[in-house]
This record gives sequence, C-alpha cells and structure tokens, in this order.
Amino acid sequence: MATLQFLGAAGTVTGSRYVIEAGGERLLLDAGLFEGSKELRLRNWNPFPVPPAAIDWLVLTHAHLDHTGYIPRLVKEGFRGPIFATSGTVELAHLLLPDSGHLQEEDAAYANRQGFTRHRPALPLYTHDDAIQCLGQFRTANDRKPLELSSHFRCRFFYAGHILGARMIEITVSENGAARRLLFSGDLGREQQLLIRPPAVPDLEGGYTLICESTYGDRLHPTDDFRARLAAIVNSTAARGGSVIIPAFAVGRTQELLYLFRELIERQQMPSLPIHVDSPMAIDCTDIYRRHPEEHNLALAALEQQGIRPFSPRGVHFDRSVEQSKMLNDARSPMIIISASGMATGGRVLHHLERCLPDARHTILFEGFQAPGTRGHAIQSGAAAVKIHGQEVPVRAHVESMENLSGHADYGEILRWLARFPNPPARTFLTHGEPAAAEALKEKIAGQLRWQASVAAHLQTVTL
Ligand SMILES: [Zn+2]
Ligand SMILES: [Zn+2]
Repeated sequence: MATLQFLGAAGTVTGSRYVIEAGGERLLLDAGLFEGSKELRLRNWNPFPVPPAAIDWLVLTHAHLDHTGYIPRLVKEGFRGPIFATSGTVELAHLLLPDSGHLQEEDAAYANRQGFTRHRPALPLYTHDDAIQCLGQFRTANDRKPLELSSHFRCRFFYAGHILGARMIEITVSENGAARRLLFSGDLGREQQLLIRPPAVPDLEGGYTLICESTYGDRLHPTDDFRARLAAIVNSTAARGGSVIIPAFAVGRTQELLYLFRELIERQQMPSLPIHVDSPMAIDCTDIYRRHPEEHNLALAALEQQGIRPFSPRGVHFDRSVEQSKMLNDARSPMIIISASGMATGGRVLHHLERCLPDARHTILFEGFQAPGTRGHAIQSGAAAVKIHGQEVPVRAHVESMENLSGHADYGEILRWLARFPNPPARTFLTHGEPAAAEALKEKIAGQLRWQASVAAHLQTVTL
C-alpha cells in the first residue's frame, strides 16, 4: 500500500521532508534543515527516520535551506540516488549548500572555543567538503515535461512564484493497477511580486491529496505602497547625512531592493547615492537571477530586452573582496549598504552595524522576518544595546522594517489560489506553519471552501 510520511515541517515552518513509499521504492520530497529554536535544531542530529541508503530519489521544490540544507548530511549517511530540481534551484543549491557547510563548521569551531558543547570536540552537521560532494548527485529536471522515475513514480512541476526556480510538485504513485495523486504546494508565492510571476493553478483531476503550506495562515501582509515607503526612508536618512544599512537575505530580497532602487532613482524619487552590495553570496545570487529571464515576470523580461539592466541601479558597487568591504568603514555618508546576514547573526553586516548603530543619523532597514533570539530581532524590538564581537553597542540609529517584501502568500492569497483549482482535493494536509497559523488556515478552508483539511503531525503516516 502506498504511504506518505511527514518527516518535518509538520507543526513548524522548517525542516521540509516528506517520504512517499510504493512498490518497495521510496521517493523523498525535499530534505530541509530544521531551523530556529534549539529544540528544533537538535532534530537535525537525530538519525533519519528512513535509512538514507533505502531512498531511491530526492525531488526538490526550491533551494531555501529549510528545503535542501539536510542534503549533505543525507548523502554522508548513505543516500546515493539522484536529486532532481529545476535548473534555477540547482544553480542556487551549488551556492547555498557549500556556504551552509562552511557555517556549520564555523558554529562547531565557535562551540569548541566557548567550551559549551557536550560533545568534545563539537562536530559540524556537515562540512563545506561534504556539501561539495553531494552536488554530484544533482540532476536538472526539465519542468515542462513529466519526470518518469519508475513504473511507480512520476512527477510534474508547477510554477510556485516563491523564489527563482521554485515549483509545486505533483506526484502520481501507481501500484497494483491504481494511480494515486499528491500535490505539494512547497512554499507558495504572492499574487503580485516585483520579479517573479504569480503561482500557477494546478489542473489536477479530483480525488488527489493536497499538502499546502500555512506560514502566513493567520496573517495578511501590509498593503501600503512599499515604493513610497522605501523612498521616504532613504530620503530622510540622506537628509540627516546618514547611511542606510540593510541586513540582507542573499536570495530574492537583495535583487528586489536593487530593482526598486533602480526604479526610484530613474523616477527621481530618491537621489543617486552610492549603493554597495557587500556580500559575495548576494552578488552571486544576483548573477543567477540575471541568467534566468525565463523565471521572471514579463515586465522584467521586457526591460532586459530593451537593454536595461534591472539589478544595476546607477551608483551600484558590487564589493566582492574583503578589502573593498573594509574600505566602506572610511567611506562618506550618505550611502546604502546591503550586506549579509539577513538577521544580523553573522557576516560582514556586523562590522557596519558596529559602526553605525550608535549614530542617530543612520538607519538600519530590515527587509524580512527576524526570528526571535537573533540580533536582528533584538534591534527590531527596540533593544537599547546589542552585543557585537564581544562589545556592547548602543542602538541610537533609526530602525525600520519592510515586511511586505515577503516571498510567501498570506491567508487571503492562499484561499484565493485554492478557490481557483478546477477540482477540489479529496483531502488536505496543512504543513509549514506554526500550530496557530496552520489551525487558523484549516478553519478558513473549512469555512470558505468547505474542504476537509487537517494539520499534519510530526512523523504521521497516511495511506494514499
Ligand atoms: Zn522558501
Ligand atoms: Zn519553506
């Protein structure tokens, strides 16, 4: 009997992993890291619930680490099968996974220096070299035609509109002459976005099982005009003679900001200030965005056809080297610095924060969700001081947030998307949400669509 088991992202947002079993074969859908609280992160160290050597294929929805970051460990533990993803996802994974291995090594080295580890010495979950090793198993899937894995498994891809390369995945499981279908939304994008198209509406026949994400199952995004807001933040900071420091997420948001700055400068809604992208990872990601016009929305493709470089506002500098980054210490304000990491937990942005936080002329602009426990969350919540490189740094700079650049649909968008399905699913499981968000979405689906939905439980197994 064909089964589906929820190995992660059930009752929580991260750790996307689902195993489907039929005819003695196993397909793993996503292999993500658990991120956030210590309790969740410790799950990454548990033995994988299915022996990795017994998994035949891995198919990925998109490149974010909570969907791919476990792969090097899975391979280290014996998984030898092919890993299928779109070409955009494959390119991003080649960037993100080795970097993740590097961060795992840094964390272990830090734990050893501080002596707060029970394991002596503390070991990384996987290393940079482990991550390089697993890249050899990646295969680019042509998402315009079905992926025939075996007589039991077949996959189709649908545009998810979340980040470059992201897809929803339909899996047809055939066993004993019967075919069962499953649709996984992966992370679902928004109706209207700057760079990518809205999510596709899958055309499945009735009777299938739906797994739907619920990250914003209880929230609606702000609807204010983010162009006007961004211009106002830059203009008021420049008027004070200060700089705007933006802790950046490399994939997606940095490219959106560059796109917005280019527009605002062209429309003369902000001055042409020096804009520094001080993050090799963000620079590499921007190159990948440039190489994939087919992934973008039509307006962006049209710009490229006119020879306009959408991610290169006037005055932009891509600072790849450490020397270039250090020179920013002595550069004159006003300017804009986009630098990783997005939640200010590490990376080059710490140097800029150390310098700029104590000075009220400057603005720190957060471009996305700040997880509790991070330095970014402390600054955003109004902490009077934060610790950086062992020093107490007072927070006197202005602090702003622009959460409406989210890559996830809110509940209104999820419900409108579901309402457009030509055929309703036979049953729906909600995943990728904190319990309150998943429960809230379940109620709304029952109330508005009259569909039976349930919140998936960690390690729950269902028969297909
Ligand atoms: Zn994602
Ligand atoms: Zn996700």
